[in-house]
Amino acid sequence: MLQCTAVTSVPEIDALVAMVTMQGAPGDPPSTLYLLGDMVLCELGEDEHTEHAAMICMANTDEPQALWLFWTGEGSTRHYALEERPECPAEQHPGSGRGYICVLFDKHPAVHSWVVTDPLGTILRIQARGEVDRLFRKYPEGDPD
Ligand SMILES: [Zn+2]
Ligand SMILES: [Zn+2]
Repeated sequence: MLQCTAVTSVPEIDALVAMVTMQGAPGDPPSTLYLLGDMVLCELGEDEHTEHAAMICMANTDEPQALWLFWTGEGSTRHYALEERPECPAEQHPGSGRGYICVLFDKHPAVHSWVVTDPLGTILRIQARGEVDRLFRKYPEGDPD
């Protein structure tokens, strides 16, 4: 299943306040926020969900949890909330130590994260692989100098 294509801007001040006050706050909230970038992409599968969701940062807690941005609408009709949520406990092959763990929040709508593919990420990987192949053909000795 493809990933939802909804994007939104990060509400920086509210996100910083939430990060500073959350349980297991990151050590350097401004840097964590800077690394996140200005815009976030909904991490849910494209099947029906009423609220989009993007992880802002993981928490340093015993039980895995993270700060999530939930939103509906866009522009002047956008409504959002920042909430700490425990991690989804699902594993692709429980107990086997193989396969993927779900990186979404507990009780998320839609499918687990290992079912979701990011079409943009796939396109970028294909382009990067093509560029590496091109460089290897151009410099077969491995040294462009
Ligand atoms: Zn979405
Ligand atoms: Zn899940």
